[in-house]
Amino acid sequence: MDLSYTAEQEAFRREVRRWIKENVPKKDRDAQPMEFGDPQRVQSLKAWQRRLYEAGYVAMGWPREHGGRGADVVQQTIVNEELLLARAPGLIGLMGVQMVGPTLIQHGSEEQRRRYLPKILTAQEIWCQGYSEPGSGSDLASLKTRAELVGDEFIINGQKVWTSNAQFADWMFCLVRTDANAPKHKGISYVLIDMKSPGITVRPLVQMTGDAGFNEVFFEDVRVPRQNLIGEFNQGWLVANSTLAHERNMLGSTTRTQQMFQGLLRLAQSHQRYGRPASEDPILRQRLADLMIRVEAMKYHAFRQLTDSIRGRPPGIYASVNKLVSTELNHDIAALAMEMMGSYGTLARRSQRVIDRGVWPIEFMFTLGLIIGGGTSQIQKNIISERGLGLPRH
Ligand SMILES: Cc1cc2nc3c(=O)[nH]c(=O)nc-3n(C[C@H](O)[C@H](O)[C@H](O)COP(=O)(O)OP(=O)(O)OC[C@H]3O[C@@H](n4cnc5c(N)ncnc54)[C@H](O)[C@@H]3O)c2cc1C
Repeated sequence: MDLSYTAEQEAFRREVRRWIKENVPKKDRDAQPMEFGDPQRVQSLKAWQRRLYEAGYVAMGWPREHGGRGADVVQQTIVNEELLLARAPGLIGLMGVQMVGPTLIQHGSEEQRRRYLPKILTAQEIWCQGYSEPGSGSDLASLKTRAELVGDEFIINGQKVWTSNAQFADWMFCLVRTDANAPKHKGISYVLIDMKSPGITVRPLVQMTGDAGFNEVFFEDVRVPRQNLIGEFNQGWLVANSTLAHERNMLGSTTRTQQMFQGLLRLAQSHQRYGRPASEDPILRQRLADLMIRVEAMKYHAFRQLTDSIRGRPPGIYASVNKLVSTELNHDIAALAMEMMGSYGTLARRSQRVIDRGVWPIEFMFTLGLIIGGGTSQIQKNIISERGLGLPRH
């Protein structure tokens, strides 16, 4: 493994850093990358994604004919790192860019790609993911939302839940049951639903962070044209899995975890506990060292993944390993920050004596959700043990 960058890559990093410095909107810094509970920020975040796209920094790895720049993984990693280091806002259209876009490139028709991809890139259309249902989360293939093909239309009835960003999304990529009699993985189709269709009700759910980032979505006789089917009829499971692999990569950002850990170190040095900096407490130092070892191990695992990707080796279970390790680490880092701050950790965002603008309690709660979303840690462990280590299924 070669851990150094070429002169060309270093020059590219400088160029990206300069652009970000001049263009990141200060007021939107630190926005959570996945869910956006505050509807007032939607417009400014859409404008931010558009600016980033016009600069050539959105979906850089997509082929040129689909609006990307065919960039290699090192260039993409450099841009991601620099955006995170600058605390730039996340992409409001992340699910479009990272999940449904790559899925359409892989499984969509030329017409579908032409229709949807350009508006995904510019955030003109925002997407949400309609997979989970009450009773069908980890066991996703048991989903029950029904789609009946009548002429050239699907008639959809049922309910989705935990649908992030559905409150302002324009489109949903959705799994529906199209054959109730087939084995459960074989009777599912993958369809795109216009969220303005009559018969859709979106009901926001308030999370413990106080934001309403996800929703319940109800379908009553919703009509969807047959041309919105992606891949083959009843073969949606295959398409769904390719989206899921992209989702795991999106959730497992190792740079964000490294950055959070740096934030924890700064807190330990600046926050006083029993009259001295928390970083001088021998027990806390042990805990910090333990986390640092985990962060470093994760970082080198990510380098190994990067190397494999450069050399064209298949990704295997790496996305699951990243998702498992980084989401759990994020929560453990935030948990130690909360412990260090003691009762200050419970202060609300606008409180006078709040530390670090109140980000830690929000991180503590939000990161817990990411351990569950996109497949829980237990499910990732099952995948790693069965597909990676070849352990028997039970
Ligand atoms: C912040 C957040 C955002 C989300 N956004 C979306 C979204 O946009 N779209 C969407 O479709 N869904 C979304 N989800 C839903 C998410 O995908 C599900 O919560 C997740 O798949 C788990 O399903 P569940 O909640 O039904 O839990 P369950 O599947 O009921 O699991 C309950 C517990 O049992 C364990 N368990 C279940 N099966 C096994 C097994 N086979 N082996 C070992 N342990 C097992 C789980 O690990 C978990 O601890 C989101 C969730 C969160 C938290």
